[in-house]
Amino acid sequence: MSSTIPTFEARAYAASSPTSSLESSTIARRVPLATDVQIEILYCGVCHSDLHTARDEWHSAMPTQYPCVPGHEIVGRVTQVGADVTGFKVGDLAAVGCLVDSDGTCPHCANGDEHYCAQQVLTYNAPDRHLGGVTLGGYSSSVVVDQRFVLRVPESLDLAAAAPLLCAGITTYSPLRQHGVTAGKKVGIVGLGGLGHMGVKFAKAFGAGVVVFTTSPHKRDDAKRLGADDVVVSTDAADMARHAGTFDFILDCVSAKHDVNALLGQLKTEGRLTFVGAPEKPMEVSSFALIFGRRQISGSNIGSIAETQEMLDFCGEHGITADVEVIPVSRVNEAYERVLRSDVKYRFVLDMSTL
Ligand code: NAP
Ligand code: ZN
Repeated sequence: MSSTIPTFEARAYAASSPTSSLESSTIARRVPLATDVQIEILYCGVCHSDLHTARDEWHSAMPTQYPCVPGHEIVGRVTQVGADVTGFKVGDLAAVGCLVDSDGTCPHCANGDEHYCAQQVLTYNAPDRHLGGVTLGGYSSSVVVDQRFVLRVPESLDLAAAAPLLCAGITTYSPLRQHGVTAGKKVGIVGLGGLGHMGVKFAKAFGAGVVVFTTSPHKRDDAKRLGADDVVVSTDAADMARHAGTFDFILDCVSAKHDVNALLGQLKTEGRLTFVGAPEKPMEVSSFALIFGRRQISGSNIGSIAETQEMLDFCGEHGITADVEVIPVSRVNEAYERVLRSDVKYRFVLDMSTL
């Protein structure tokens, strides 16, 4: 597509191939259209999906086009608005998550489920309807997004620690809410990373009993501090036996292939395991692990825009943010290596003023 829309230059960090490091570059952003909001990005979280995409690990489902600018946990200040923007003005705090557009007309959109719209446009590596090529994410000095996909950040929250709410937050908040996690329910959170640590905070805030399943025994004290009532080391069969058959709901936040059947055995009759983690390789499910116990297995994609705003407001009321390690953009490649070693407490956030 050759575009006639006026653009301006923004700074960014981009990967140019599946094996190259991310490096400083410049990109084009569209000059705001009538319903667009232009945001100066102050902080951007580092999600494991950024790594999967930058390294083209999801090639069969969503091949990566290069250069790739990841980043979908974006917070910043509004610097310009189009003539028809009603909800935002210059100087406001604003945030953008994983979605920047949808068709707005399909049954999912009509139902407020734009995150299941077949024409949804992800914040990066999705066809850019305005400029051609693919959308470019939040590892950048600015972003221009239609007002329907711009969120409000409660002023009371620390801005850097609020950035991960835009993906890790909503991706765990939504399935916990959708599947009725409240007081009296027993919930397992698998994988204490960016998503998992938010899952623990939300499940606890909703009043549930929470058990963390981890492969990292050294995370035990952190898990308890974050709100877990108990911690199970999932590689230890004796430890796994302690809670077997007792969970109403398990949220699987793991980024790599692992033993799903051992987790299904933790559910009680009619219990549900929901995947939000998206490992590169498929995983085996034994039908026996489901049949004996009428158990259910499902998946969940981020959350809707309305639900994301609800989650941000909930976080404002309850003082919930992510535990973050704020780093300069120049250290993003090092951060990727540490994420792969599960060595992050519990989300890296890029300080975009260092770009
Ligand atoms: P992360 O911070 O890297 O956390 C992943 C955690 O999984 C690790 O901290 C580790 O926890 C555990 N883990 C890693 N390798 C493992 C292995 N081989 N076996 C067992 N456990 C392992 O990643 P994240 O940013 O939270 O993202 C997690 C996954 O969710 C990614 O696949 C990401 O793409 C996906 N995601 C999905 C959605 C969605 O809408 N569904 C949205 C965002 C992200 P322990 O050390 O505690 O074992
Ligand atoms: Zn994400």
